[in-house]
Amino acid sequence: MKCYVCSSETRPFFTENFEGLYRLKFVEYWKCLNCGFVLSKTHRDMSQGQWEELNEAVHSSFQGTDSAKDDPKWLSRLTKQANVIGRLTELRVIPVDAPWVDYACGDGQLACMLKDKFAIEVDKYDRYMSSCDSGYITYSQMIAKEYGNLINTSAMEHFLSIDPVKEMMNILSDSGVFMVHTLVRENIPCDLQWFYLLPVHVALHTNRSMAILFERYGFEASVYHPESTMWFWFRNSTDFVEKVIRVQNELIPGQFFFRNGFMDYWKQ
Ligand SMILES: [Zn+2]
Repeated sequence: MKCYVCSSETRPFFTENFEGLYRLKFVEYWKCLNCGFVLSKTHRDMSQGQWEELNEAVHSSFQGTDSAKDDPKWLSRLTKQANVIGRLTELRVIPVDAPWVDYACGDGQLACMLKDKFAIEVDKYDRYMSSCDSGYITYSQMIAKEYGNLINTSAMEHFLSIDPVKEMMNILSDSGVFMVHTLVRENIPCDLQWFYLLPVHVALHTNRSMAILFERYGFEASVYHPESTMWFWFRNSTDFVEKVIRVQNELIPGQFFFRNGFMDYWKQ
């Protein structure tokens, strides 16, 4: 199996025993020798039907409610994410008038918050949920548009191939802003007790793997906001972004981290 981020060789890293949880038993995680990205080979080898069944079983246990057993901070994090997106929009760092999409939006709560609190209209797209609510756009509607603002939260850890990343980058405009939340580490720990090893977390990113995507898809600067654990990737206007962020940090020190290039905030 080749790394789907950088195409380098991978090796078995560790095997977790889920002891029958959602019918999962032994799950093999493979690590890229170049970028350190880790993918579950067991999930990658599932049929499409098995993978969809697993997601359905896991997600139906909490979506549409305000709590998640494995992720108790879910709703408060979404609120913080809506607030920081709204604030960066007010500061014109994010172009509010450009079309918006929340790619892999799940039950669409973040898009609802942005509409309610900031009057931002966000297209909701989710491959697995588009048929269940008229507020969602279909795949063909989405790929027919070009978006200036693309939100992607708690999704990259579920991607079994590079295809969804390519899809997102194809619909993002040349001046588009990519807003992403996923867990990123300097190195993925070889630790069977790690809290992040959940039944549908299959893709574990490192700073190196994210930096590869950042550069490949033409981004130049990034901002990380620790409180909401959101990254904002910019393809242009980087001098303006840097200036605004500097002023914001003078008001409240340490709230944002800016870098020309990928902001590798998490170093542990
Ligand atoms: Zn790699």
